[in-house]
Amino acid sequence: MTLHKHWGHESLLQALARARAEESLPGALLIHGTKGVGKQHLALWLARALLCEAPGMSGPCEDCHSCHLAGKLEHPDLHWYFPLPRPKKANTPEKLAQALEDARGEALADFRADPLRVTFDSEPRSLYLAAARSLRKKAQRRPSMGPSQVFIIAEAESLAPQESSSEAANALLKLLEEPPLGTTLILTSAEPGRLLPTIRSRTTQLHVPPLSLGEVTDFLASHVGLEKEEASRIGALSKGAIGRALGFLGQGEGKGPLEEIRSHALGLLGAALATGPDAAIQAAMAFKPVGARGLRDLFNFLEEALGDLARTATGTPPEAGYQGENGFLREIVERWGIRPAWVPSAMEKVDEARVMAAGNVNPQLLVFGLLHDLRKELTRREPSRKNGGSNE
Ligand SMILES: [Zn+2]
Repeated sequence: MTLHKHWGHESLLQALARARAEESLPGALLIHGTKGVGKQHLALWLARALLCEAPGMSGPCEDCHSCHLAGKLEHPDLHWYFPLPRPKKANTPEKLAQALEDARGEALADFRADPLRVTFDSEPRSLYLAAARSLRKKAQRRPSMGPSQVFIIAEAESLAPQESSSEAANALLKLLEEPPLGTTLILTSAEPGRLLPTIRSRTTQLHVPPLSLGEVTDFLASHVGLEKEEASRIGALSKGAIGRALGFLGQGEGKGPLEEIRSHALGLLGAALATGPDAAIQAAMAFKPVGARGLRDLFNFLEEALGDLARTATGTPPEAGYQGENGFLREIVERWGIRPAWVPSAMEKVDEARVMAAGNVNPQLLVFGLLHDLRKELTRREPSRKNGGSNE
């Protein structure tokens, strides 16, 4: 495999290529934008441009030895860090550091085998202090091949919140303040507001905007081989983010991982608004008692589902791609006489739960509390008799 050319964001790429040619790129960058919009891919493209032996005004030459190695993620001076699940059986700092380095190697091998594969699972992931330390140690060494080295720190907001305060983040601060000569640090984040202000202030920020619908559908047709109709349907669900579009792609007959999470979110909404309280208890108990941080995607989709509920209540169809849920949402709206004006406070409850999910809370209690709150916000009237009684 070789990394494909970065798709879209042409003017951004041009500006970066020009800055690279003029050697005016800052030593510490923070690339932010919505999840799946291509931040890490852009960071990898920029890393290739920085390591390239003959970069031009359009970025990496794609032809030199460095470009070949970097394109295969085998360049010794390209270091890509991303959040990982906590390794099991790593009970000393040394063992943890080694286990994390092994897991990172495995994840890179998976990525090399299939760069378009996206994994969405509910396992909580972090950037650990051990990884931050290993990164800092590497950054203080000289590059192996050329004059430059690049460190990509993806999803930088996940710098181990469960570890003693912000030690992992602090381990990076000095490095960000004064990157060693020839060293570029590129952080990416979909939630830059959750980064330490001291990290934000030490980086030059770069926003990656969503792609147009046409750009996403063209990508899906040309790189994934989707038929026009399916490419348009998935494109409509993507919100301009290729990573999100890929998450909706099923394997064979199966649903895509994001479609699964969306269904789960709708199931939770159904449980919150079921006739009796049992459905909410059952839905909450179906979660594991640990790992609340894995719930963030689910809560994001729950918020989207609430948006569609509000649209349904005003008589507007749900967002493009979700029209199939029309009947389900209309039934809920009719049963409880839901008014669009009630939905924003329900969304706030989801937002509160999302913030709590970042901490060390029991997911069963968190979900149960949230479903209780949603019911309170959305059922300000008695259920209509005509539609009542169903447990959906
Ligand atoms: Zn090159």
